[in-house]
Amino acid sequence: MTSLDSSPYTYEAPVSADLFARGRTIIPGGVNSPVRAFRAVGGTPRFMAEGSGPWITDADGRRYVDLVSSWGPLILGHAHPAVVEAVTAAARRGLSFGAPTEGELDLAEEIRARVVPVERVRLVSSGTEAVMSAVRLARGATGRPVVVKFAGHYHGHVDALLASAGSGVATLGLPDTPGVTTGAAADTVVLPYNDVAAVEAVFAERGSQIACVISEAAAGNMGVVPPLDGFNASLRRLTSAHGALLVLDEVMTGFRVSRSGWYGLDPVDADLFTFGKVMGGGLPAAAFGGRADLMDQLAPNGPVYQAGTLSGNPVAVAAGLATLRNCTDEVYAQCDEVAAVLRGAASAALFAAGVPHRVQQAGNMFSVFFVPDERQVRDYDDARTQDAARYTAFFHACLARGVYLPPSAFEAWFVNAALSGEALDRVLAALPAAARAAAEVAA
Ligand code: PLP
Repeated sequence: MTSLDSSPYTYEAPVSADLFARGRTIIPGGVNSPVRAFRAVGGTPRFMAEGSGPWITDADGRRYVDLVSSWGPLILGHAHPAVVEAVTAAARRGLSFGAPTEGELDLAEEIRARVVPVERVRLVSSGTEAVMSAVRLARGATGRPVVVKFAGHYHGHVDALLASAGSGVATLGLPDTPGVTTGAAADTVVLPYNDVAAVEAVFAERGSQIACVISEAAAGNMGVVPPLDGFNASLRRLTSAHGALLVLDEVMTGFRVSRSGWYGLDPVDADLFTFGKVMGGGLPAAAFGGRADLMDQLAPNGPVYQAGTLSGNPVAVAAGLATLRNCTDEVYAQCDEVAAVLRGAASAALFAAGVPHRVQQAGNMFSVFFVPDERQVRDYDDARTQDAARYTAFFHACLARGVYLPPSAFEAWFVNAALSGEALDRVLAALPAAARAAAEVAA
């Protein structure tokens, strides 16, 4: 085994350790997206070789129950037969045309049928691109510069929205990112989440300059922090009153927490919605959509330019369509049930081990905060009171028992509908030992 990593966890995965060492000589940090590097939890990131249903197998041949589900997209589990078949059939017909295909219409119609305020949809290739395009459209349509976002929310690595961002930015504790110019961030206002008074104050002061408020429909990138009752509706009321647009980012929640995403649980009519993850079924597809009069300001109908060589790629569209069409009521019921079982079991194990914590959910997304008391985590400041060292111990105890959790305390746990039977039993068996490992970390 060769390893550049002296972590005590390395020994468990010699092949992954070798691959990681090789990776670091060619790819910055050895990974193509920062959270994959295990920086927050230490040890060797597992290189994955295959996945099937609730299971993933790493390069060392070890099997894990997957509670990351590719960070959300794989709501049906890995290599779902209907999705694999649809992708294979689409690939046989041609990988990309750079011309429209019927499947794009099917996917756009499927999205529109689920989220009522969405009258028009444009397909893109990543959540980042969806958000970037929606913000450009909001600015173009209103002729105003300012974008209001919330601390701890992550909207992809869009320059203007990286300030106080969640996900990997929070995990790595990065200050606002070098490379984002003052100019690019100058028109971004960052507010505390779930604080209606703060939103009212910024509208009172700068209302006529604000193009849009963008909010994760329910925040999942600082751990799971749902909006307080009526918060999204307040954003709707305030934006409307000041001629600004409301953009709800459903990249994570969309088609995951219900067949209509967070909109199905908390129906607030945003002007624009952004989608990704589940609607791509594990391939790169994302979208933004909203009112027809707004969306018609996009090129070629209108002046706001937005484009993509691979937008609406037929293979990605096939994966997304097959996924959405197989997301039956039973799938959502199963995800809700499994998530409830895991939340209860994690909490019971931590109580038994005497570890202070709070489990929070947004539909079937949830996370465990190792916070010093049981108060609700309402915003990024609250989320940052958690004891990351306890999460690290908990994470590695799970990993050693074949349960793959998100390698960061600032991320949601994502279940999938294949998680049952032996796989579920394995997680339930691991949680008490993981809780005891967390308890051993001095507070
Ligand atoms: N918006 C939200 C709410 C997300 O959670 C993410 C990714 O996690 C994004 C946008 C960016 O999506 P992508 O990683 O596909 O660019």
